[in-house]
Amino acid sequence: MRSRRLVRDRATRGPQATNSRGYQRSLTSTEPPRPAGTFSLVGRFRYHRPSKLGLAFGPASHQFRRHNRLVGLDTAWQRALELAWQSFLAGTTPVGAAVISPAGEVVAEGRGRRYEHSDGNGRQLAYCRIAHAEINALAGLPPTQHFDDHILLTTLEPCCMCLGAAVQSAIRRVHFAGCDPYGGASNLVIDTPQARRRPPTVTGPLPDARGRFAELLHVWWLLDFGAPQPVLEPQQRMIPGIHEVAARPATSNLFDRLRHDSADVEQAMTAVDRLFGDF
Ligand SMILES: [Zn+2]
Repeated sequence: MRSRRLVRDRATRGPQATNSRGYQRSLTSTEPPRPAGTFSLVGRFRYHRPSKLGLAFGPASHQFRRHNRLVGLDTAWQRALELAWQSFLAGTTPVGAAVISPAGEVVAEGRGRRYEHSDGNGRQLAYCRIAHAEINALAGLPPTQHFDDHILLTTLEPCCMCLGAAVQSAIRRVHFAGCDPYGGASNLVIDTPQARRRPPTVTGPLPDARGRFAELLHVWWLLDFGAPQPVLEPQQRMIPGIHEVAARPATSNLFDRLRHDSADVEQAMTAVDRLFGDF
């Protein structure tokens, strides 16, 4: 079965590998092959097998559990998903991001605010096309230090702008939860002396319910928003199982109800899990 795991090398387009995203195997068996590995933002090949990185996302991975325990990734992912859900409830692009320290502390965070008129205190970009979650998170970092040992978590595969912002912020590791086959730029090559000095890697998607939730939330939002076909077509082609569930009337009913009830992210994720229950 083909993998959707997306940790790939930008210059060589990376090897493909099997992965552990079990639900994708049942949901999206007709998906085209997705590359696997760890992308480097520079031309140098940096593919890693997840178990060697200690960042494996497989649910049975001892390395993954150990890494989570060490740096608090689970808590940070939870916060990023909360932020994405807040954006969803606010009616804007549902993406959340957090920067975490080696100790696992969230030191900066942001969320998508493209269609919001203000963040309430003027600290984050809003109501413009570049009001992305990652930009708003990185904007919270002080300019007087580097962040080589920090990780930028984002619930959706970052775009070219946000990857560039990560390089500018001296962030070495970017992890994303769900794929964005249209705007996702994890195969982007940034071959500058600056990027070569601190070559960042991009890893994702998460092979579990968090990645699935992030993708479904985004694709459903695109459908509900009336995104044009050039935006939707890559979603349908690359993550057809997610697109199919997102297009169901039952899914629209569910998200409308969750929004009406101002449900929290845990309630939303539990409800979304049930949507996939018959697969
Ligand atoms: Zn972006």
